[in-house]
Amino acid sequence: MNIYPRARHTLAPMSRQWPLLQSLLQALLFCLALLMGWSSLSHASDGEYKVSINSSLDRIDVRACFQSGMPRELAADKRLQSQLQGNFYVDGKGIRPRFRGERLILSARHSCLRYQVALDLDESKASFGRSYRVGRDVVTKPQHWLIQPRRAVNHDDNISIRFDLPPGVAVSVPWPEMPNTASSNASNPSYRLAMTDANWDAQVAFGHFHVEYLDIANTQLRLAVLDSTPAVNMDDTRRWVLEAAAATLSVHGHFPQPMPQALVVPVGPRGEAVPFARVLRGGSVALQFYIDPTRPFREFSEDWTATHEFSHLLLPYVSRRDAWLSEGLASYMQNVLRARDGRISERTAWSKLYAGFQRGIKATRRENSGAFESRSRTGWSTMRVYWGGAAIWFLADVELRRRSNGQQTVDTVLDQLHDCCMDPGKLWRAKDLMRKMDQLADTTVFSELYDRYAHSTRFPDVEPALAALGVDTRRSSVRLRSQADEAHIRSSIMQPPPITESF
Ligand SMILES: [Zn+2]
Repeated sequence: MNIYPRARHTLAPMSRQWPLLQSLLQALLFCLALLMGWSSLSHASDGEYKVSINSSLDRIDVRACFQSGMPRELAADKRLQSQLQGNFYVDGKGIRPRFRGERLILSARHSCLRYQVALDLDESKASFGRSYRVGRDVVTKPQHWLIQPRRAVNHDDNISIRFDLPPGVAVSVPWPEMPNTASSNASNPSYRLAMTDANWDAQVAFGHFHVEYLDIANTQLRLAVLDSTPAVNMDDTRRWVLEAAAATLSVHGHFPQPMPQALVVPVGPRGEAVPFARVLRGGSVALQFYIDPTRPFREFSEDWTATHEFSHLLLPYVSRRDAWLSEGLASYMQNVLRARDGRISERTAWSKLYAGFQRGIKATRRENSGAFESRSRTGWSTMRVYWGGAAIWFLADVELRRRSNGQQTVDTVLDQLHDCCMDPGKLWRAKDLMRKMDQLADTTVFSELYDRYAHSTRFPDVEPALAALGVDTRRSSVRLRSQADEAHIRSSIMQPPPITESF
């Protein structure tokens, strides 16, 4: 969507019979546009940000110039707004910034702004709400220091952000790198801004790390590992991240997202190797892993978390209101992909899926009896969101394979989705995405499952499909029955599909 339409497009075509009226109307609309500060609509989205940070990594200076006037909607969150009073310059002149909600009120005829932000750092722990220190490094949310275009801009637009960094300091960002920028180098890296909504979560880290470019099939991961004592074992970390990332290649032979940011944040001794991880979509696609760097490589490799997070990258951004769809795919795939690359056996993968479904069934039962307290924004509990969603993907996979005699699978549909629908600035609702997948696969499998389960009080009915596939369950143990009618579907799910197409 172009939110900065060219000015000439604001005029409807006029009849040739009314040239005078046409000219008058054009002049009138032009004057109106000028009066209302819309004169910049024609070129508003060409601009450059220059960002510098001091050597103690707690003060950021931002300058932004827009060649043809300010974009129509620049946004600053409340925390940033409070920092700008007495410290905000437009075209070199100090002014008191005014906001309507998050939107900065500025006349479009201005072209440059400048301000400085003191980062309000949590010095003791990794924090979601605040920027924070990790050893000698710093993790920030760009919303804490960046006034930026509020919505994703047109793909033809050109807004860049260039950093001026102190010696020995690097930056890790989610934004795509600017192609062929002569001025972009290690101390002045340059990126493309405004690919997504300004409010979407993102992380920008500054520190004494090197951003490593890890080759993965057709692209690279931009890995940054933050400071800790003892230091993180880089060889092990590269191996662990690449192993999990490579697992997604079995789905369609190439990596699903271009050059994602991968930020590893050591959080000290914990009870597990990866106590927390998430995918963020602000700026573009990014992964963040909180790790206990004292744990051995074996524990990282055996952990499902990284495979789960990389599986999220197989889908475009799905609304948190429909988290069951994205969490469901990641929960299904975290087991399928690990079986495919041999980290777990086929039987273990089915055992884990079955155990997950059981957790979801119990949570649904508690919810229906009104006993469940911890619910997500969807109104579903966490276990029901993750495993109810996984059950829907499992049923879709089985049904696609049945109806197409193995020609269509969740893998083939995700591959088709990758080719059409991965715009990083687009947010999907589950209903639309499932309809899209049906359209791509020329089927009704997804819509049928959506209609049956998306608003149901029942957990998806997985037992008949498990039985048909020969996944026999007795109490908590799972046995695979090779004589089952659809045993071939069961085993083919857990094997890498033949790659028919190269990237
Ligand atoms: Zn997840």
